[in-house]
Amino acid sequence: MKKYVRVLAVLLVFMLVLTGCGPTNSQKNTEDNKNPQSEMQSEQNKETEGTENTTKDTQEQETEEDTQDSQVDNETEIKLYAKTKVNVRSLPSTNGEKLGALSMNQEVIALGEAVDGWQKIRYEGDIAYVSAQYLSKTKVQSQSSQTQMQVDEITAEDLTLPADFDPDGIVVVIDAGHQGKMNSGKEPDGPGSTTMKTKVSAGTTGCATGVNEYVLNLEVSLKLRDELKARGYQVVMIREDHNINISNSERAKFANKLGADAFIRIHANSTTSSSVKGVETICQTANNPYNASLYQASRKLSDCVLDEFVKSTGAKKRHVWETDTMSGINWCQVPVTILEMGFMSNPEEDQLLNTEEYQDKMVEGIANGIDKYFGR
Ligand SMILES: [Zn+2]
Repeated sequence: MKKYVRVLAVLLVFMLVLTGCGPTNSQKNTEDNKNPQSEMQSEQNKETEGTENTTKDTQEQETEEDTQDSQVDNETEIKLYAKTKVNVRSLPSTNGEKLGALSMNQEVIALGEAVDGWQKIRYEGDIAYVSAQYLSKTKVQSQSSQTQMQVDEITAEDLTLPADFDPDGIVVVIDAGHQGKMNSGKEPDGPGSTTMKTKVSAGTTGCATGVNEYVLNLEVSLKLRDELKARGYQVVMIREDHNINISNSERAKFANKLGADAFIRIHANSTTSSSVKGVETICQTANNPYNASLYQASRKLSDCVLDEFVKSTGAKKRHVWETDTMSGINWCQVPVTILEMGFMSNPEEDQLLNTEEYQDKMVEGIANGIDKYFGR
């Protein structure tokens, strides 16, 4: 019994000591407040590593960012970066006085979470507001700053056909422009040419959305694949993944090998002026040194796709651009068009291009254009 009391007493003292040595409330708070910051830091490091050492795509990175949002306390100050040039205002509204602008990748201290799409920030010693959609926890990375290719380069010979492919049907080959990482290697811009061009350029990035062109191109291409299949075409995709490395000439050679009845290359445009917008298609000139005999067909395909795209989307019609500078066209021995769906350097069009609803309209228009080309 005595022993039992003694054990109890020892336990009691031990508990007292524990409580006495524990952190005070204020210390605890400091620790808690620090946590999101340090988690942020390690998350950011992870992302940097991810970008440099793995082939993780942007989609995955955004998911990680979303998870972080819920971990940030109300009054926490965190570092954010402007995705693009964006206005700084005195009030959380476009009616607020314009105090200035952030440039792309400019660092800013955000105060708490965004409310109704507006982020409170510290700006030149004052409180100000920026539309939250234009801020990101990571800097916009140009693809050229990414390191080494991770994926082995493949050729037309390595691409395979879908199991249910019927060569007797109308064959449409879709090339979702670009790929997860650019290939800065060079290749002739046409058979036997001494002019060398980059095998696969980086493509552009949405000035408002921060979405990489290769991501948008594939999103639309996959929808187009489904729509054309539903309309009875034999559809073959150059890529259904970002994690691939195939040059523009090899993409064309694959379309040649399949005897494609139409080769549709999906891209988005960009330019230095943010006000420029609209859709255009591209084909070779009537004097192309490699495939002039396909000019008529390619021009018709380009006209059909452009006109129906405009009809379906209401986009501003630019023109069919005839040029012999595109390797992915010069290497073609089949009718080809490049569709530049819109300008990712125009904030409104960039956002439009990245909505489900507009993508459905684009796909409807492209498919209608292909139907029209084949007289269906
Ligand atoms: Zn492109």
